Amino acid sequence: MTLQVYNSLTRQKEEFNPIEPGFVGIYVCGPTVYGHAHIGHGKSYVSFDVIVRYLCYLGYKVRYVQNITDVGHLTDDADAGEDKIIKQAKKERLEPMEIVETYTRSYFEDMDALNNLRPDISPRASAHIPEQIALIEELLETEHAYESNGSVYFDVSSFSDYGKLSGRKVEELAEGVRISVRSEKRHPADFALWKNAESGHLMQWPSPWGEGYPGWHVECSVMSTKYLGQPFDIHGGGLENIFPHHESEIAQSEASHDQTFANYWLHNNMVTVNGMKMGKSLGNAINLKEAFQGTHPLLSKPYNPLTIRFFILSSHYRSPLDFSDEALQAAEKGLARLHATVKLVRDQLRQASPGDVPEAVTELINRHKQAFEEAMNDDFNTAQAIATLFEFTKEVNTLLNTKRAFSQDTLAAINNLYQILGEDVLGLIPHTFTTEAGDDLINGLLNVLIQIRQEARSKKDWATADAIRDKLAELDIILEDRPDGTIWKLSQ
Ligand code: ZN
Repeated sequence: MTLQVYNSLTRQKEEFNPIEPGFVGIYVCGPTVYGHAHIGHGKSYVSFDVIVRYLCYLGYKVRYVQNITDVGHLTDDADAGEDKIIKQAKKERLEPMEIVETYTRSYFEDMDALNNLRPDISPRASAHIPEQIALIEELLETEHAYESNGSVYFDVSSFSDYGKLSGRKVEELAEGVRISVRSEKRHPADFALWKNAESGHLMQWPSPWGEGYPGWHVECSVMSTKYLGQPFDIHGGGLENIFPHHESEIAQSEASHDQTFANYWLHNNMVTVNGMKMGKSLGNAINLKEAFQGTHPLLSKPYNPLTIRFFILSSHYRSPLDFSDEALQAAEKGLARLHATVKLVRDQLRQASPGDVPEAVTELINRHKQAFEEAMNDDFNTAQAIATLFEFTKEVNTLLNTKRAFSQDTLAAINNLYQILGEDVLGLIPHTFTTEAGDDLINGLLNVLIQIRQEARSKKDWATADAIRDKLAELDIILEDRPDGTIWKLSQ
């Protein structure tokens, strides 16, 4: 089965075929950096991180571009209101670029904690002003845009495909919109490409239309195609970005270049908290940092970022996800079970000797690898992929509980599957568990003790042998005598 992705543009699952064989270009709308990232950002960027990781797993060379919006995103989508960054700068009495720097750093801190791989390129909107001006000039030349009082607007009536992504119709967009007599727009659905800066406006740049700043949508059109070309393969973002943001990106880029903007549009669903829409005014907007530290009133304790990642991936990216303290506690337990088995496999691997891999184990590995790929090939169904990983874990536990001594090669094959699926693709298993920092040393010391105990036993010095076993048991280290020697493990 080949990779199928749900394309929001055609509203169906389609076989994924990149423009250039072996290469995938993906652009995902990044954060507007005026505050700490919340759990909704967590869901979005963890989802796209796994999509990118899986494309790499399939052998594609991926270029992942995710921008930083540091100008032009207004508090009101309809080209009114204040720039979100400037508003925050005034509130915190800081320079806008201090706000941008503070929250960009905070964003990457949180994304690193969630084990998201960094995008290949993280372009900032404010660093691409000349390119945005060039695109606007092209739109003016081709009469898809018009200037009005130093601002430039896109003329939606000039682009017949406007609405093809969101399914909205231009005529309907006018309904219910009050158009003030002083409006600079010809049609209420027209959107700003460039806004005239009033005197004293923080963050403004010279342009052919006077001092001003770019509109939010034009930034993404420019930053995606600059690094990925046009058309490019995948454009991603949140459902809430479909209109007007993505619809407007398509209009600008396709009107100016007369060719497709992006082939596949992927949208992730939103989060709710205890069944309710998340919102600052409702007091249920949980920042990732608050979740990591357990400082939000709706949370009973701190949660490891990997628990949150696991919770996010346990539902499909296109499904809504309901956050609650109980759900996170359940996720914590589930992930701990997975980690316990992986630790056990790795502990035994360090002590095992080379040998054959039983056919049943090879079959077990292949069967689950295939089921995992089938799940992920079905529009990145991480929920099903995780279920497969747990079925595999259940069978691995059954094997380990037989108390047979497995060969190094067998355990390495099992560990390898955990590494590829659980570590590389899902990012749920740490490469080294924190308790493993001094593992080689601990393993060496325990082997010395096991050897001394063995010598005591061969001299029938049962008192010494038992003392070693009992003292280790006090430290939760269990010695298990097997026909081919003694191994140690941590009591669960
Ligand atoms: Zn965007």
